[in-house]
Amino acid sequence: MLNDLPVQAEDALLALIGLYRDDPRKTKIDLGVGMYRDDLGKTVIMRAVKEAERRLWEAQDSKAYVGPEGDLVFTELLAREVLGAGWSATNVTGVQTPGGSGALRLAAELLAYQGPRTIWVGTPSWPNHKGIFGASGLNVKTHPYFDPRTQTVLLEEMLAALNGASPCDAVLLHASCHNPSGAALADDDWNAIASVVAQRGLIPLIDSAYQGFGRGVDGDREGLQTILAACPEALVAVSCSKSFALYRERTGAIFVSSDSSDKSAKAGGVLASLARVNYSMPPAHGAEVVRTILADEELRADWVTELESMRLRLIQIRRALASTLSGRVPSMAAIAQQEGMFSLLPLSAEQVMTLRHGDGIYMPESGRINIAGLRLDQVDELGGKLLRHLAQH
Ligand code: PMP
Repeated sequence: MLNDLPVQAEDALLALIGLYRDDPRKTKIDLGVGMYRDDLGKTVIMRAVKEAERRLWEAQDSKAYVGPEGDLVFTELLAREVLGAGWSATNVTGVQTPGGSGALRLAAELLAYQGPRTIWVGTPSWPNHKGIFGASGLNVKTHPYFDPRTQTVLLEEMLAALNGASPCDAVLLHASCHNPSGAALADDDWNAIASVVAQRGLIPLIDSAYQGFGRGVDGDREGLQTILAACPEALVAVSCSKSFALYRERTGAIFVSSDSSDKSAKAGGVLASLARVNYSMPPAHGAEVVRTILADEELRADWVTELESMRLRLIQIRRALASTLSGRVPSMAAIAQQEGMFSLLPLSAEQVMTLRHGDGIYMPESGRINIAGLRLDQVDELGGKLLRHLAQH
């Protein structure tokens, strides 16, 4: 049996970690994998997380099973944070999951539960969206979303595609900090999307993986709330990996919002049963940490403060990079307005390879850069190297 298995191509993004590590050049820059890094290039443990872990170590007296739906206090507190206090109180059910990827997987399996269904995904998107949805039995269709050359959102093209979608098709939306483009939607854009999604009877699946990195913890839920207000049924997949810097702890949740508490409860039951046959129960530690932070006013305030300082560092680097590049390539001014960790440069795969081998600048073939991988004092030098390629467009 094993002999006949195909050889899997390595995950190109994860492979960058090893390639970067093995490059001996001192001037190398890692703009690859999507983790926040500080000025020293470290992905640190947040202060509130460390304190919550200390408290848990002292207080925890059992490792007994929790159940497929995970930590119920965690999901309730997280719902309030991600959906807002008003929404979380109305007909919302949540199930804790192993990270945002686990949330997307359960969401996709719920969408595929009653038979074949199509999900619409913008181009470009996080590559694993298509992977997870396809593996869960959904039929993935794409619509235009972002043009790296002009650095603009293709809203009209997106709306036209969604207007051609069939009722009960699902549509994937990024809550904030679009991965990979960083392109932000204006309030009017969210309203336009909400109105097409509601009129066509589509089911939104909103991926919230970067709350706090765009407009702040409150601002980053506004678009999502516009969609929830317009749609009688919606799913929200949450990742705590970036917002709490809990990457390896695999912490997340899937929420169902509907116009009746009965419907949401039924969906919650199906999600829990899907969890049971996939991995039985989610890992506890990360959710306990998040619960401890969100349940304590002081710890929560410290988490918000630290998250805000991370957001401001990204904005500072964005502005510096945009100003270095935009003199020669005007479209690059958009980098300063974009949000979150990523921007998508209009580079060919060949140009990306030249930057990697020639200059020690590491990014995936798509041209996506992780802004957090940069220090302010590297921006000028990086800008010069990027301009050699960008100016050709
Ligand atoms: N959604 C998006 C848009 C992401 O970028 C990521 C992680 N890169 C995820 C979901 C999944 O995150 P997690 O590590 O929590 O599974």
